[in-house]
Amino acid sequence: MPMADVFSPSKRSEVMRQVRSKDTTPEIVVRSFAHRLGYRFRLHRTDLPGSPDLVFPRLKRVVFVNGCFWHGHNCARGARIPKTNRDYWVTKIRRNCERDKASYRKLRKAGWKVLVIWECTVTKGDSWQRRLAQFLGP
Ligand SMILES: [Zn+2]
Repeated sequence: MPMADVFSPSKRSEVMRQVRSKDTTPEIVVRSFAHRLGYRFRLHRTDLPGSPDLVFPRLKRVVFVNGCFWHGHNCARGARIPKTNRDYWVTKIRRNCERDKASYRKLRKAGWKVLVIWECTVTKGDSWQRRLAQFLGP
């Protein structure tokens, strides 16, 4: 059963805009780092499960840069669910998580290695850079 949307259209787009802008910046940071490491990759390959954000075809590796809110990260930002219409968001985000897990499973079954980089780790420090370098490295 579809849930009613209690946000007014303007409030809704405000929420979406905030979430989306926070969501895309870490991805660009990760992309430019991967570039600097000298790797070639494709973006958002929709023919792969979950359309991974970065795809390294020769290495058979994919990277997801996940927004903590949308993908339900267990962190402060991930827990920041709007108080209005809470059930709607909780259900939506739970579905996103289930879809994510299914995508990762399908990718691994098809021989891809999967790395998830959380938005909050990109904005907080550079430990994600070592993880990414190790993930892609020889
Ligand atoms: Zn997080």
